[in-house]
Amino acid sequence: MTALPAQGSTGRPQRNLNVPGLVEALQNILKPDQVSTNAGIRDRHGHDESYHESHAPDVVVFPETTEEVSAIAKVAAQFGSPIIPFGVGTSLEGHVAALDGGISIDMGRMNKVLEVNADDLDVKVEAGVTRKALNAYIRDQGLFFPIDPGADATIGGMTATRASGTNAVRYGTMRENVLGLTVVLADGRIIKTGGRSRKSAAGYDLTRLFVGSEGTLGIITEIRLRLYGVPEAMAAAVANFPDIGSAVNTVIRTIQAGVPVARIELLDEVQIDAINKYSKLDFAVRPTLFFEFHGTETGVAEQSALVGEIGAEFGMSDFSWTAKPEDRTKMWQARHDAFYAGLALRPGAKGWPTDVCVPISKLADCILETKADVAASGLLTPLVGHVGDGNFHLCIILNPDDAEEAARAQALTDRLAHRAIAMGGTCTGEHGIGFGKIGFLEAEHGSAVAVMRQLKATLDPDNRMNPGKIFRA
Ligand SMILES: Cc1cc2nc3c(=O)[nH]c(=O)nc-3n(C[C@H](O)[C@H](O)[C@H](O)COP(=O)(O)OP(=O)(O)OC[C@H]3O[C@@H](n4cnc5c(N)ncnc54)[C@H](O)[C@@H]3O)c2cc1C
Repeated sequence: MTALPAQGSTGRPQRNLNVPGLVEALQNILKPDQVSTNAGIRDRHGHDESYHESHAPDVVVFPETTEEVSAIAKVAAQFGSPIIPFGVGTSLEGHVAALDGGISIDMGRMNKVLEVNADDLDVKVEAGVTRKALNAYIRDQGLFFPIDPGADATIGGMTATRASGTNAVRYGTMRENVLGLTVVLADGRIIKTGGRSRKSAAGYDLTRLFVGSEGTLGIITEIRLRLYGVPEAMAAAVANFPDIGSAVNTVIRTIQAGVPVARIELLDEVQIDAINKYSKLDFAVRPTLFFEFHGTETGVAEQSALVGEIGAEFGMSDFSWTAKPEDRTKMWQARHDAFYAGLALRPGAKGWPTDVCVPISKLADCILETKADVAASGLLTPLVGHVGDGNFHLCIILNPDDAEEAARAQALTDRLAHRAIAMGGTCTGEHGIGFGKIGFLEAEHGSAVAVMRQLKATLDPDNRMNPGKIFRA
């Protein structure tokens, strides 16, 4: 009979890591302030912003160059240590938890914009640059980078989670906007993928293999991104509806009519009530759409008029639009604060955010069935969505000490994921799998998961890159 491997506190096989030896080896290749075993710093690197449990790494390192990341990876290989790349920890499915201990590589000090090519509309950044820092850097050149998860995440973390946000309906996700990468592999090798040209038919597309790999295949140290010119005109609009079905049908018709909206966001009445209270606004407490239009002055007016006509068929009221930058900023800041507004509805509560995405023709069915399910669950659960992509989120606001409530939340998210998959959609449109959604991957991808495992085993044969995430290797 074969003996089973010993299990650690996470229920995963123990690695018997020589932590003092590992720390000493890291101290030999880095400056003293680049290696920390401080308990508070390790704890901070063991969890994201979600409800999922925390697992602190054994040591946190702060590299400043790609070569240092490579040297860290070689030390990790020598000691058989797990590596967990870390951006700013805003992911939502337990992505950065060090389930088997090991080294957290905090990319925060690699925060330089390396190259801006305004003529070609591309930029090269280090992985620790945040999306807001990048936009502040390029604004004066009339350029912007549109991908905007609610949090001020790093470009490395956004690449690793294949993130998107409110602008994805017009500008795509990280998948469409990453042109190339520098990656350090588990054994310390440094590779470059992609390039500056808009098209290439040269070999396998390794860039897209690493986009969305959640730190399980390598450490991304540099990213080349597409940029966009700031549009001549931008206008935002708000409209509310008698019921959520009418709001969603307005979205579906708008997309099917080919109106090139830049943003189209749904907020249900629970979420609107929350942001009214949190952001001191006075929107009608009804299902609401936030829109943004980009283009020329004429184009923006045309798009807005078209949406007005479509919405009128579905009982849309109070359709008001504004081109004033301060009004637009206020509205979108309130939208980006939706998570924290939901939390403020129940002091002391924790948020359990979850997202799914379905083909646009299924969006109304999916949202209506989900709203009925939420009502039956009795859980406080605002709904928001980047609905132009068929993507929406629930944020279950729950008492962290109530196991029965947590079990109901788990059951609700399970039903939602399976509902989306059954409709031809996905268990996550943008947050990713981490360890929180591992259970849905087989249901969504079937035998393709075995191929994912083979790819992982080729690049990371000892399963040391963010182990326990996406699937169990
Ligand atoms: C309020 C709020 C709103 C949000 N809204 C959205 C949204 O609208 N859309 C959306 O997509 N997400 C959203 N998110 C989720 C989150 O912002 C994204 O997952 C983000 O992309 C993570 O970036 P980060 O820098 O925080 O990475 P982290 O959380 O630190 O890491 C995330 C994952 O990427 C890996 N990783 C990080 N850096 C690297 C690297 N350099 N190389 C390789 N792997 C790396 C980590 O190991 C981990 O698996 C939201 C989160 C919050 C808190």
